[in-house]
Amino acid sequence: AGERGVYNFAAGPATLPLSVLQKARAELVDYGGSGMSIMEMSHRGKHFDAAIKKAEADLRALLAVPDTHEVLFLQGGASTQFSAVPLNLCGSPSDPADYVVSGSWSDKAFKEAKKFSAASVAWSGKDGKYTALPPLDSISQNPDAAFLHICSNETIHGVEFKDYPEAKNRTGILVADMSSNFCSKPVDVSRFGIIYAGAQKNVGPAGVTVAIVRKDLIGKAQANTPVMLDYKIHADNGSLYNTPPCFAIYMCGLVFQDLLEQGGLAEVEKKNQHKAGILYDAIDASGGYFICPVEKSVRSLMNVPFTLAKAADFEKQFIAEAAKENMLELKGHRSVGGVRASIYNAMPLSGVEKLVAFMKDFQARNP
Ligand code: PLP
Repeated sequence: AGERGVYNFAAGPATLPLSVLQKARAELVDYGGSGMSIMEMSHRGKHFDAAIKKAEADLRALLAVPDTHEVLFLQGGASTQFSAVPLNLCGSPSDPADYVVSGSWSDKAFKEAKKFSAASVAWSGKDGKYTALPPLDSISQNPDAAFLHICSNETIHGVEFKDYPEAKNRTGILVADMSSNFCSKPVDVSRFGIIYAGAQKNVGPAGVTVAIVRKDLIGKAQANTPVMLDYKIHADNGSLYNTPPCFAIYMCGLVFQDLLEQGGLAEVEKKNQHKAGILYDAIDASGGYFICPVEKSVRSLMNVPFTLAKAADFEKQFIAEAAKENMLELKGHRSVGGVRASIYNAMPLSGVEKLVAFMKDFQARNP
């Protein structure tokens, strides 16, 4: 099964490029001839300084991040941004904010935001079991809201925005949780006030969260904002206010470099479209044996949830037999069940091809 013996279809932490892991291994004990590992070094020393600066420069190149936006490497996971966003953008807990609730993650973001803002739901996909997204102009936005928040890709439900709504509120600010499709395709960063993403799906190990924040939004946090959640503190200190997750940032830097070497995000997107295409085609061509509940126009290129029409037992059998063939972590999220194949940037095409062949074989053996 591929170069590594297994294919890891986990939703996150997720598979990383083999070449990146090999480079990290080669440098692990003696970084740049220093006799030390980068994880043992001062975050204020020359080696780490160069690594974090290169990571930022490469990410800026990948996403064409404009000078209007700051790149921050933060801790606490994307979940911490659920509170940091309203704390930084709303003047007080009574300031309104709009949330598109398109799945479990944006629902979590919304619930957390209610503590620090007067957040309300601008659109909810709950009645449709989170299988669709709204037409972009039908989101009922509050003109007084401080921002509109979306989750660009719902990791559990597999719905992905293919284009983004315009924020029609008092600030025109759109905020996106891009944790599970960050760096999977080009994005026009200038359309967003804030983009944030936990690294552990597409760009590195868990422990670092990237936030790309429009500079004019920084420095307006609510007075009681914890220091670690205030974007100004991190922007003023080049993400080195306190000890950052050095090793995770270094690993992200290796991934960014790898993505640039692949030709950048337009090339990466083509590969992702091809991989997702053959998997969705296999589901749709199974005559209803495999079912993806997500509306076709918003199916995620990263997380592909599906069920087996026969019976839940067969899903268990499917997942267990796939694991025996070294295709791991195909179980759907505990909240929705079924099967979920997460096929991030680093999932090789051969992994998806193997899964598709296995699906056909499983169906033939269990009609
Ligand atoms: N948002 C999305 C879309 C996610 O997929 C996840 C994690 O899986 C999170 C937020 C939470 O991220 P973290 O675990 O880094 O807090």
